[in-house]
Amino acid sequence: MDKVDYDLIIIGGGPAGITAGIYAARARLNVVLIEQMALGGQILSTDWIENYPGFPEGLSGPDLVENFEKQAAGFDLNIETDEVVSMDIDGEVKKIKLSSSTITSHAVILATGASPMKLMVPGEEKYAGCGVSFCATCDAPFFRDRVVAAIGGGDTAVQESMFLSKFAKKVYLIHRRDKLRATKILQERVFGNDKIEIVWDTVLSQIMGNTSGVNQVEVKNVKTGDMKTLDVDGCFIWVGIKPNTDFLGNSSIKRDGSGFIIADSKMETSVSGVFAAGDVRNTPLRQVATAVGDAAIAAVSAEYYIENIK
Ligand code: NAP
Repeated sequence: MDKVDYDLIIIGGGPAGITAGIYAARARLNVVLIEQMALGGQILSTDWIENYPGFPEGLSGPDLVENFEKQAAGFDLNIETDEVVSMDIDGEVKKIKLSSSTITSHAVILATGASPMKLMVPGEEKYAGCGVSFCATCDAPFFRDRVVAAIGGGDTAVQESMFLSKFAKKVYLIHRRDKLRATKILQERVFGNDKIEIVWDTVLSQIMGNTSGVNQVEVKNVKTGDMKTLDVDGCFIWVGIKPNTDFLGNSSIKRDGSGFIIADSKMETSVSGVFAAGDVRNTPLRQVATAVGDAAIAAVSAEYYIENIK
């Protein structure tokens, strides 16, 4: 058996990565979790979480992350801040190239999550950070008593629009269909929110502005073809997510058509000893609850895998 640095390397420090770390540390594996930025992933920018059991009043994303971190520290989980540049994981020894070193392990859990998708419309790039945003928790306070556009009809667009409406005087929620995708309880709330006007069957075609930032969006009704402009001070884009898998390069790990990693019921990918958990995985539901469930399975599967090959 080749000598390796670790039993298990976990990549990603969101709810899935931290949970896998807690399970692996409790199993007394020699484990390291690599996270390139702050721990927490997407929930760091989630205003309020009310569907994660155990917190009947709900709690903010950052508070939940703080609890996760405390729990991981209680089991002495080894967490390193570094970027995974590439990996060579097809063989029995998994080699993970970091920014200035390479580390090796028997098993790897990929828990790198997902990032907001862009619309690639004119103005989106130009005004990013000057009125175009993907994070209400970060930027909503800049739009106090202003008018903003929000694009999308999923859970993120609806939930974040409601958070935006605590600051903005008006939110146009622009959705390409005549039905929202968001879960029903969120729909009920958004329909009852006087500050939010839903603009149905409509897509964003352009974001306009001047030296001070965004001042208009151009939208098109997909049923009638009519174009119109809306005077807004900002434009938030929530049209889905894409997996964070750039570091996989041309790896043989199987992915679906959108790039999400395919794993079996043990969370094992098409490469032996490599597991996936959370939003980066091809999964029908992306919640904190599903991410931590995936991660518990992935960590225990990794533990069995390591026991068998050692
Ligand atoms: P999503 O569920 O994929 O929804 C994306 C929305 O953007 C859809 O309404 C979609 O329209 C629209 N869209 C996609 N491409 C578009 C385009 N090119 N132009 C205009 N509109 C476009 O993504 P999400 O809302 O970011 O959620 C991601 C995952 O996180 C989901 O699994 C979600 O349930 C989960 N999440 C859960 C919560 C919660 O439980 N409270 C909160 C946030 C996120 P169509 O509807 O027409 O496809």
